Amino acid sequence: MVDYGIKYWSNDDFIIDKGVVKVNYKSKPALIDIVKEAREKGYKGPLLLRFPHLIENQITKLYTAFETSIKEYQYQGKFKAVFPLKVNQMPNFVLPLVQVSKDKHYGLEAGSKSELIIAMAYTNKQSPITVNGFKDKEMISLGFIAANMGHDITLTIEGLNELKTIIEVAKEMCEPYPNIGLRIRLHSIGTGIWAKSGGITSKFGLTSTELLEAMRMLEESQLLHKFTMIHFHIGSQISDISPLKKAIREVGNIYAELRKMGASNLKAVNIGGGLAVEYAQHEGMNCRNYTLNEFSGDVVFSLKEIAKNKNELEPDIFIESGRFISASHAVLIAPVLELFSQEYDEEALRLKEQNPQLVEELNDLYNSITEKNAIEYLHDSLDHMESLLTLFDLGYIDLQDRSNTEILVHLIIKKVIQLLKYKNHNDILKIQKSVQERYLLNCSFFQSLPDYWGLEQIFPVMPLDRLNRRPTRAASLWDITCDSDGEISFNPQMPLFLHDVDVSKEEYFLGFFLVGAYQEVLGMRHNLFTHPTEFSVVFDDELNKDYEIENLLEAQTIVDVLDDLDYDTKEIERILKQHIEESDLDIENKKIVLGKLYVMLSENGYLRTISVQDSIKQENS
Ligand SMILES: *Cc1c(COP(=O)(O)O)cnc(C)c1O
Repeated sequence: MVDYGIKYWSNDDFIIDKGVVKVNYKSKPALIDIVKEAREKGYKGPLLLRFPHLIENQITKLYTAFETSIKEYQYQGKFKAVFPLKVNQMPNFVLPLVQVSKDKHYGLEAGSKSELIIAMAYTNKQSPITVNGFKDKEMISLGFIAANMGHDITLTIEGLNELKTIIEVAKEMCEPYPNIGLRIRLHSIGTGIWAKSGGITSKFGLTSTELLEAMRMLEESQLLHKFTMIHFHIGSQISDISPLKKAIREVGNIYAELRKMGASNLKAVNIGGGLAVEYAQHEGMNCRNYTLNEFSGDVVFSLKEIAKNKNELEPDIFIESGRFISASHAVLIAPVLELFSQEYDEEALRLKEQNPQLVEELNDLYNSITEKNAIEYLHDSLDHMESLLTLFDLGYIDLQDRSNTEILVHLIIKKVIQLLKYKNHNDILKIQKSVQERYLLNCSFFQSLPDYWGLEQIFPVMPLDRLNRRPTRAASLWDITCDSDGEISFNPQMPLFLHDVDVSKEEYFLGFFLVGAYQEVLGMRHNLFTHPTEFSVVFDDELNKDYEIENLLEAQTIVDVLDDLDYDTKEIERILKQHIEESDLDIENKKIVLGKLYVMLSENGYLRTISVQDSIKQENS
């Protein structure tokens, strides 16, 4: 049995039961049933499923861990948290997040004007807003407006110019003013692919000389009492906790020094984001070397030590975890459209009366293969194929011979896999490289898993059903973009095995998990494939049903996509219509073709695979 490493990455959010993946919550519905329900409504492309209960789950875990550590160390500061909007700004994520976290006073972090507007509209009053990133006068004024509205907002200064602007805006606007935070440029460096966020060469933050100057400016403009927080962020997906501990020691000491210099309202240390998510599906491939409880314990303990040594107030602890909060709530479902070797079945074989000798030998291998000789015959057949392809290039065999070669080799591979199914998996592992199957998926990796393409970030992937059958095909995954980078190739270090299915007769779906952080807004419309159709799966005790599909948002239509690119879609429609009118078709056919074209323009661009049952139904009707 292959469990796709679910014990490593799922945290029991999803479980395998009776051969299918289930949501481990309330009525425990199978993902495959949820997907089928959506497909029956006509949504045949890729689907993005959101689980709001998993957002709440992660928020609760984060608060519980820190509150437990605070109790354990009898820490005097409070724990506060905000969600950084850049990690996921989609309304079907943000609105449930705000809803479920009301009584925790969980806030939002904004890094741009648009994000700040979202935060100002949706942050619960009494929950904090923090603002990071580069700011112009307009954005700073927006922060003042938020404060005027009654929001608890902190503007974190990335450089002295921003502080100058704040001082300027303060003269123009009335109180209440926003709080001011200072971002520290650390000498201890970040780790991981995102290391550029921390460190002395970082894009952000103040050096110690600049900090001293900032203190002077705040004092001079009588704003020192608004300075309440210092901030750092060493990068996302921190794999090793020791750089974080180092950073906390550095920042903790800066905190204590600034207080001694007169920053008496400085009461919070914001440790940014970076709490990692375990994406690994294979033993020994872990992405992080700590647990959440170790993380919270280390943060609380380190700050306590520094406060004690420097005889200062224990600061409130602010965190801006994004990935950890949002990754698990979304699952991408991709229907498998095709297995590339599927067409190579016995019926396609067209052996001649007289075949080239190597083809005859291939045929003999195929007919006499047994469990015992399987590996040996497989290797022979791969050698034969090499020779036959060379013969074709030299003009000695024809296209029919070449086709027979391909079919026979594929048939042999399938038979070998079948024969070795119950044997030691190592035998299959030995041949996996040469017998990969390519699975074509109805989705775009550029749109839905951009970090795979850009940063080689892996995501756990598994089929939604057949989990009581051993998967036998070493798989590489291909999306429907026409870009050769749209491939997740087979990696022997992290092998993916899938089932041998005939997708012309049965449906097969793959789920990509932990895709709720960063992927959606980073996703690009390569080949003009859009954000997939999405919906939330909501569990509510009041409902009659086990769960309800809510907030369904259909993938953008072709016309809308073109419109977004600023094409004049009316003109496009007019030109296309004109082409049809000027064609040689008769009037009746012109009408039919035009009708078909309009339907297509109003649909999304993903492939509309109809399920097997549907096509049978259609044939019968
Ligand atoms: C991106 C970012 C975060 C979120 O980081 P995660 O690794 O997703 O937790 C938090 N704070 C700041 C300043 C950021 O830039």
